[in-house]
Amino acid sequence: MTRFIFVTGGVVSSLGKGITTAAIAVLLEKRGLKISIQKLDPYINVDPGTMSPYEHGEVYVTEDGYEADLDLGHYERFSQAPIGRHSNATTGSIYSEVIRRERAGEYLGQTVQVIPHITDAIQDAIRRGAPAGTDVAIIEVGGTAGDIESLPFLEAIRQFALKQEPGHAMFVHLTLLPYLKASGEMKTKPTQQSVGKLREIGLQPDVLVCRCEKPMTPGMREKISLFCNVRPDDVIQEQDVETTIYEVPLDLQREGLDRALVQKLQLKTSAPLDMSDWEDLRERWANPKHEIEIAVVGKYIQLHDAYKSIYEALAHAGAALNTKVRFRKILADDCAEGDIDTILGGIDGLLIPGGFGERGLEGKIRALKWARERKLATFGICFGMQAMTIEFARNVLGLENANTTEADENCTEPVIHLMDEQGKVTDKGGTMRLGAYACRLIEGTRSAEIYGRDMVFERHRHRWEYNSDYRERLEKAGLLSAGVYEQRELVEIVELSELPFYIGVQYHPEFKSKPLVPHPLFQAFVKTALQSQDQAADSPAAVEVESR
Ligand code: GLN
Repeated sequence: MTRFIFVTGGVVSSLGKGITTAAIAVLLEKRGLKISIQKLDPYINVDPGTMSPYEHGEVYVTEDGYEADLDLGHYERFSQAPIGRHSNATTGSIYSEVIRRERAGEYLGQTVQVIPHITDAIQDAIRRGAPAGTDVAIIEVGGTAGDIESLPFLEAIRQFALKQEPGHAMFVHLTLLPYLKASGEMKTKPTQQSVGKLREIGLQPDVLVCRCEKPMTPGMREKISLFCNVRPDDVIQEQDVETTIYEVPLDLQREGLDRALVQKLQLKTSAPLDMSDWEDLRERWANPKHEIEIAVVGKYIQLHDAYKSIYEALAHAGAALNTKVRFRKILADDCAEGDIDTILGGIDGLLIPGGFGERGLEGKIRALKWARERKLATFGICFGMQAMTIEFARNVLGLENANTTEADENCTEPVIHLMDEQGKVTDKGGTMRLGAYACRLIEGTRSAEIYGRDMVFERHRHRWEYNSDYRERLEKAGLLSAGVYEQRELVEIVELSELPFYIGVQYHPEFKSKPLVPHPLFQAFVKTALQSQDQAADSPAAVEVESR
């Protein structure tokens, strides 16, 4: 029988509820349990796919082609839980389902209301979120206790928990203990008030996880316990991590969170946990032997979350190679005009992430030319791969007008063009080429060598594609097609095989990288960047600098 853990948040947003939820999954998996994770989001968008990265961070794509909240990325990176469209429900998706059913006459004349119809639909979504065979389903409720828009979700989880066997559902509440410099102490009042808000609507947290800058004193634990009606042992401290978010499972285990969870849920599981893989990861993360700098040239570089999975994938690859990866985040437009030598000088590798629209494209192309001519490790992802193809067509093939029709609808050399089936699409939400497709790797290419396989499944999110009319000419000039989607002979990977790493992929490998299992392409990219740094250090120019 599936047990349910509901994770809510209080006091402020951005407390790291997604990471805490993912860490809970890790700890329970370590006890041999089969976990599912789901996020309930109170916004009205049907899914986050139509939101700007500045609104909501990156749009994460699941294997089954769902455009998701970036928290689903944390879930997948940390845990083995199967993540897909069932792992997310939003106010928008719930309402659109209820309204569809109302229009179809399925409510048989009833007045359709928030309670019970919306709350019932939320409970149906929670059930769908836990596939058969799940031991523990973890459900993170987005928003902060006290928000008007989360109320139907909180009411729904209250009702849901009531219907479970005793001890089969529990509530974890994540709060903040703010540190006040003036009084030199952390304050518990916001936590008390936030728990008060939950209790007003009938939710009593079983476990409190308290985010804090400094360690919680025994006195504070007692006070929180007493006023929030939670046993002192179940008041868990989650102190800010020192080096990486991947320390969180270790910290929470040390604080006894997994013990509190299995006790509440009356689960008999093995103990103690073997966390050596995570400990090893923390060790490598904290004490890197090398350091490289990768330039990420994009449109949304001011916001780290906009390319979250890319930064994570680079860091995973770095950790595997005992290397700290520093990011030089560069606004693509700056590369279009500025002094490119100053902007990019000194980097060990260049990565062009995905993107949409004309703005920034010329800057990305200029950066790519600079990197290609210097034989620098260069990685293009989605729009980045398209930009690589355009740059090569213009500057090597001599097709001056080469472009994507996304930037110039009437361009005379459309080396990147709109996919056939996209011509008829008018709706923006959920209509791109989404999710995993098979890609056959071409023998003898660098990409095939890196993957060490002949078939891979990678995730997509795009409307434009490589125009195969140019394939022969591009290949003859040296830009090889290293991977194809065979059903349509669509080129998914381009590479310059004579360079150590100059690879562009139409898909998003970053979504499949995990801290304990880095993605092979990211690993090869970081490795090449590291090697080129070593070579540069051996070169006479570098020696000269040193001797000065
Ligand atoms: N805008 C491009 C397309 O739709 C690339 C998309 C992306 O980078 N995710 O094809």
